[in-house]
Amino acid sequence: MSEASIQPALREVRRALLDADVNVDVADTLIEGVRARSLGQEVLEGVTAEQQFVKAMYDELLDMMGGDSSVPMSDGPSNVPVATLASGTAADPAVILLAGLQGAGKTTAAGKLALFLKEQRKVLLVAADIYRPAAIKQLQVLGESIGVEVFTKGTDVDPVEIVNAGIQKARDEGYDTVIVDTAGRQVIDTDLMDELQRMKRAASPQETLLIVDAMTGQEAASLTAAFDSAIGLTGAILTKMDGDSRGGAAVSVRGVSGKPIKFVGTGEKTADLEPFYPDRMASRILG
Ligand code: GDP
Repeated sequence: MSEASIQPALREVRRALLDADVNVDVADTLIEGVRARSLGQEVLEGVTAEQQFVKAMYDELLDMMGGDSSVPMSDGPSNVPVATLASGTAADPAVILLAGLQGAGKTTAAGKLALFLKEQRKVLLVAADIYRPAAIKQLQVLGESIGVEVFTKGTDVDPVEIVNAGIQKARDEGYDTVIVDTAGRQVIDTDLMDELQRMKRAASPQETLLIVDAMTGQEAASLTAAFDSAIGLTGAILTKMDGDSRGGAAVSVRGVSGKPIKFVGTGEKTADLEPFYPDRMASRILG
């Protein structure tokens, strides 16, 4: 392939990535990698250089998001989801800490995850968002609707103490999975990060998941970088994918942190959670 033969495809792919709200630096890094590898490569019979470049870009996106690009695109969504979550035992429960900005969908995601896991696991929800009093009530209502117990100590207790007490209760009563709903803020601030770091030290969670609103767009990159450097993420849940978003935030999260998107939220109801399928997302992003 020559530079000239892929120029139009290059521009088209860049536009698609930016339209999908992939962070501009992440998009350019991706494109540069695929461009460098494509130049000088033989163009396969029956396709144009442009088509081959777009397919190479699709494969790159898929690889990056944890998919298997050896499965031909035309075979449809045959890739396996990347949704694995650390499991625990009653003696040593797995702790899943959910973090993110206010309104990203943390509390909703806590309920969704609990429902998703409850067939295989004994799940305890822990309400550690003490700043938004409605959050505790919201989690209790969610827990009741799906038949999962919610542990709370109200709003006058340090969240670290709530988490410790929740984990102790899980051990005492044979819960193997503890999902912790934490407080969010409108913006990233040091108080929030300090609190999350303290909670993380106390809980030693097996999973620390960033809850990202898919509509966050370009800012998903800086958001991910800030949370990952402060508390070390193991993955993310992309919420509100039922909206208009084309899902560029998924690429940004992965591009910045290297951590997988594990689930996708597709609505307001507790059943609206799907494992993340890299191939579906790659197709949605490239349009
Ligand atoms: P938190 O502040 O991060 O705990 O956010 P909430 O869980 O309270 O969610 C904020 C709003 O987003 C609520 O109105 C939720 O119903 C809504 N929400 C959460 N997840 C989704 C989703 O996947 N799709 C849609 N359409 N709405 C969602």
